[in-house]
Amino acid sequence: MKLVWYSNPTKISLRFVIPTSIIIKMTDEELLSKLEKAIKTCRKCRLYKNATNAVPGHGNSKAKIAFVGEAPGYNEDQQGLPFVGRAGKLLNSMLDMIKIQREDVWVGNIIKHRPPENRDPMKDEVRLCSGFLEEQLKIIKPKIIVTLGRIALEYFVKEAKISKYHGFPISYKGRVFFPLYHPAAALRNGNIENILREDFKNLPKVVKGEIAVVDLGKEYTKEKAEGQISFM
Ligand code: SF4
Repeated sequence: MKLVWYSNPTKISLRFVIPTSIIIKMTDEELLSKLEKAIKTCRKCRLYKNATNAVPGHGNSKAKIAFVGEAPGYNEDQQGLPFVGRAGKLLNSMLDMIKIQREDVWVGNIIKHRPPENRDPMKDEVRLCSGFLEEQLKIIKPKIIVTLGRIALEYFVKEAKISKYHGFPISYKGRVFFPLYHPAAALRNGNIENILREDFKNLPKVVKGEIAVVDLGKEYTKEKAEGQISFM
């Protein structure tokens, strides 16, 4: 421990400087749990008012795969846990299909309190809430972010259309995404369910890097130069 003298014309004081080596570093689990507490008491937007519980997200703090949906639904709101209703059961069955344990992945949403009647989150709600998800992803550092549904994909990659990119690993701004249809959409439409199941089978190959990743940054630059897309 270093002793440092501070002085001024009228008095002399002694202070201890704590070496950085003895500053206690929080574990990833502790950091996630600190965020969880902040989410549970958050009042930044209107959504907490009608919610029963916050749904911060759940899973392995060292997960290679993070699943991100848009917002909690009825069952999630009741239990405070993500993807626990029928859509969650479908997600679990697809994880079983590819022999990945749910305990080994992380599952969460952009929005942490349930929007009334499961409506789409509003822009200001996404803006106010998304910082929590970004912090969670910074701690977990997943290799792949699996976006579930249109809203989650468009949150990370504004211009990407799920109908075009579902089932393709894409890289954008330094992160790798694997866009999939939302399990809730699959429950409403058998064709979507078939597509989702087929896409899901490729997830282990995406994790192992066995499927070429589309660089959307480059693709967009090319398409924009050719006048095929407009970002405005
Ligand atoms: S939805 Fe997000 S921003 Fe809104 S109150 Fe809940 S945690 Fe806070």
